[in-house]
Order: sequence, then structure tokens, then C-alpha cells
Amino acid sequence: MTEKKSVIHISVNSDEYSRKTGVMLRKKLEAKGYEVTATFKPEAELIISVGGDGAFLNTLHRCGFPDIPFVGVNTGHLGFFQEISPENIDDFIEKYEAGVCVVQDLETVKATVIHQDEYRGQAVFTALNEIIVRGSNSQTVHLDLSIGGNFIEKFSGDGLLVATSAGSTAYNYSLGGAIADPRINMLQVTPIAAVNSTAYRSFTSSLMLPGSLPVRIRPEAEQPLVLIGDGNKHDITGASEVIIESSGKVIHLLRLEDYSFWKKVKTKFL
Ligand code: NAP
Ligand code: MN
Repeated sequence: MTEKKSVIHISVNSDEYSRKTGVMLRKKLEAKGYEVTATFKPEAELIISVGGDGAFLNTLHRCGFPDIPFVGVNTGHLGFFQEISPENIDDFIEKYEAGVCVVQDLETVKATVIHQDEYRGQAVFTALNEIIVRGSNSQTVHLDLSIGGNFIEKFSGDGLLVATSAGSTAYNYSLGGAIADPRINMLQVTPIAAVNSTAYRSFTSSLMLPGSLPVRIRPEAEQPLVLIGDGNKHDITGASEVIIESSGKVIHLLRLEDYSFWKKVKTKFL
């Protein structure tokens, strides 16, 4: 009787270097006796994403934020989530099989979009980096912001971004938001080009809150709006409310034993 093989799903970015790396990785894993799949199967014990952070985010969304560990092979992008370089694949496989990798848990964020009209009802979106609510075109949007049931302000500007700690180093950082250690489960509300004048008043800094506290955004009526979760855009024009909070889903990312978030921040940003 043949033993059932362990399944590893490999998701590969479309550029040539990623494809070559993916082929090499598949060969090495098959030689070790794994069944390697190009389409996601829930029985997989590991998901490997080959590419940059964008490829990792796409893989995560395509697989539906499963409880299975992920690891990233970086093929020449920034690679904040991507722990392994193509030259270190053998070393990684050895460490994976020896069980000496460490698991980094990353909290995710969800947005519930509520429409008044029953036909559209409710929609839920999950993201790892951030959820953004902004105008569909380039117009100023007016959004009533509440945190934990307290009305904070009528925000006017390009939009509002709600980042997780894992996403704090992405778009949030470019907007002047703070870098947060992913061991802290928090959300950061960062304004995108807030208007401050005698006509409008909004906070210009990020607001940091525990992940469990819901952020409520009520748009003024009749504004063309989009919700963007990790770069995926959805039209939410006509929504009466968007509730953003920690989703409770945690992503498990494999790291090498010497991984340190702050070392990564230093090497990738300074
Ligand atoms: P992209 O336009 O290629 O991403 C922009 C850069 O952000 C890339 O260098 C990407 O790394 C990096 N990145 C993604 N997640 C990160 C994280 N958690 N920490 C540090 N850097 C991170 O688009 P993409 O690759 O599909 O990624 C989607 C993300 O792009 C969104 O979630 C958003 O955060 C970010 N974004 C940033 C800006 C901005 O900074 N102005 C504007 C739009 C979107 P790789 O090179 O490894 O892919
Ligand atoms: Mn990218």
C-alpha cells in the first residue's frame, strides 16, 4: 500500500523569474515525496507563494484566508512577507521538515458594508494589510467617522485607510502612519489627504485603537465610493455604513528562526 502524500500548494507570480523559481521548487518538493498542486486544495499542509508581497496577498485572497501555514519565496520585489530567497530553498525545506521554523501570527481586518436597499444587503470583505474607503474618481469624500460608538468627526478628504499592524508598513506608512509591531492586535485609522480649512476640520494624524473596537464610516449620500481591500477594488456607492474591525481570522506565516520584525523593518526601509 502506498502512503498518502502530504500536499503542498504552490502559487506562482506570472513573471519569468517567479515561474522558473516555481518549477525548481516543485521539483525539489516532489523529489522529497510531496504532492505539489497548482490549484489550492484545503487538505494542503503548506501554501507557498512565489513572487513579492503582492503575489502573497493575491494567494491569500484566492485561498480564502485559510488556517494553513503560508511561506513566501521572494523573487526580486520588496518582499516584506516573503521570508525565503530562491537560493535558500534547500535550506528552507530542510528546516521545514525538521520543524524548526517559527510561526508569525498576523491579525486580519474585515469590513461589513451595509446598504439600505434590501436588494444589495450586506457584503463582507477581509484583508491583511488594509481596508480603504475613498471616492471612485478623484473627488473629495465626506465620511462620518465613529470609533467604538463615539462620533469622532466628519472627515473630508480623499478617504480613510484602516491598517492592521501587518499592513502598517505598506500604504499606511507612505501616508505618514506609524509602523506597528504585528504582535500588537490593533487598527490604525489613517487619513488620506484630509482637508483642513475653515470649511472642514479633520484629524491629520493616525488614530490607533484596539482591534476589537469597531470603526464606523457613514458616507454622505450620493457619493461614488469604492472600498479597497489589499488592492482589490469594490464599488460601494450607495452604502449607508461600513463597519471595520479585526476579523478574528489569523494568518500563520512561517519565518526562519532568526526572524525579527524590527530587523526586517531596518533592512527593507532604511
Ligand atoms: P504594489 O503597488 O506592488 O505595492 C506597493 C508596494 O507595497 C510593493 O513594493 C509591495 O511589495 C509593498 N507591500 C505590500 N504589502 C506590504 C507590507 N505589508 N509591508 C511593506 N510593504 C508592503 O501592489 P501589491 O504588490 O499588489 O500590494 C498591494 C498593497 O500595495 C496594498 O495593500 C497597499 O498597502 C500597497 N499600496 C501602496 C501604495 C503607496 O505606498 N502609495 C499605494 C497603493 C497600494 P512587493 O514589491 O514585494 O510587491
Ligand atoms: Mn507588488
